[in-house]
Amino acid sequence: MDFALSAEQQQIRDMVSEFVDEEVVPVADEIDHEDEYPADLVSEMAELGLMGMPFPEEYGGSGLDYHSYAIGLEEISRGSGGLGTIVAAHTSLAGNMLYEFGDESQKEEYLTPLAAGEEIGAFALSEAGAGSDVPAMETTAEKDGNEYVINGGKLWISNGSVADTVTVFAKTDPEAGNKGISSFVVKPEADDGFIVEGTEEKLGDKGCPTAELRFDDLRIPEDRLLGEEGEGFVHALKTLNGGRITIAARGVGIARAAFEEARDYANEREQFGQPIGEFQSIKHKLADMDTKIQAAKMLMHKAADKKIRGENYIKDASQAKLYASEVSREVANEGIQIHGGYGYTKDFPAQRFYRDAKLNEIYEGTSEVLRNTIGDQLLEEA
Ligand SMILES: Cc1cc2nc3c(=O)[nH]c(=O)nc-3n(C[C@H](O)[C@H](O)[C@H](O)COP(=O)(O)OP(=O)(O)OC[C@H]3O[C@@H](n4cnc5c(N)ncnc54)[C@H](O)[C@@H]3O)c2cc1C
Repeated sequence: MDFALSAEQQQIRDMVSEFVDEEVVPVADEIDHEDEYPADLVSEMAELGLMGMPFPEEYGGSGLDYHSYAIGLEEISRGSGGLGTIVAAHTSLAGNMLYEFGDESQKEEYLTPLAAGEEIGAFALSEAGAGSDVPAMETTAEKDGNEYVINGGKLWISNGSVADTVTVFAKTDPEAGNKGISSFVVKPEADDGFIVEGTEEKLGDKGCPTAELRFDDLRIPEDRLLGEEGEGFVHALKTLNGGRITIAARGVGIARAAFEEARDYANEREQFGQPIGEFQSIKHKLADMDTKIQAAKMLMHKAADKKIRGENYIKDASQAKLYASEVSREVANEGIQIHGGYGYTKDFPAQRFYRDAKLNEIYEGTSEVLRNTIGDQLLEEA
């Protein structure tokens, strides 16, 4: 196992890191406070090729491998957790659905503007009654001549209210359980019957709109079906597997931000005539925080490396996402503790890191569901 980043990976890390320090960190508190989609920042990122990192240049992307993309996403999330979600939902989920399961003309028409960052993507799987239990979804897509008519609704859709292209999952055969789910491309502007019901007021992850969507006799041409009817559940699982690597990267990025802020504070803040960092209990907190971050990072890199080598990475992606998410929340919690009372106020970003980190344990597979997946994989390996 090689523990060093390649020259290309170092280059992407340094480039994104510089952009984040100059353009994202200075506005991160404002994004958190205003909770508005940062369209200008996303346009700047598109110009730098950060909205289509893992896609080939022929489809408008930057032609990086998925591992380099995860490294870039870690840096973006270090600046803003909300921005991390915007890029991850757009790229790992919506973009990857088109890249992996779209035919040539679907890739050309729908992936290219997403990868170039000219358009924004969303991935609409979850519903009010179907979060962890995906096959419980009630949205249907009924064939009518050479069209599908979609009815139902989706909840918690990141980028859902600003997206130009939404990959939507619906049942084409409601009696067939998970084998009756299909996936489609929906264009909110062009397709009548696409309704944004509203957006959620959330604990964190601000700037990324999380929308409730309704489909009211939404008609789409049959060539918007991705792959074959009945393949949607497999599309979702495969896409979420890859997505988990980047949510692990988001966790690592937020944890790093929380750690660095707390370490600097520990050096500056004096009590009893000395910097609080000199108290052994604070020093040990910092030691534990960094140790956990390094371990989470290793899991993230291992999963990303296995993915680009074409190996089975289901367990690795779940472990990386599970561990990095819990570490992110734990590190952010200790970050607040190191700040004492100041950490509990909005004068310091420590509380933002905590609020942003918490989401990691919920979306793209809750920690409980990931433990099920990891356990299943371990038993299969026996
Ligand atoms: C901010 C945000 C953004 C999101 N973005 C998207 C998006 O872009 N696209 C999208 O499709 N979805 C998105 N989601 C939805 C997210 O993936 C779901 O919230 C998540 O899958 C959990 O589903 P649920 O909320 O219905 O919880 P439930 O499934 O009802 O779970 C409730 C509790 O029960 C536990 N539980 C459930 N089943 C099991 C089980 N089998 N074993 C053990 N424990 C179990 C869970 O772990 C959890 O603790 C987003 C959610 C949030 C909050």
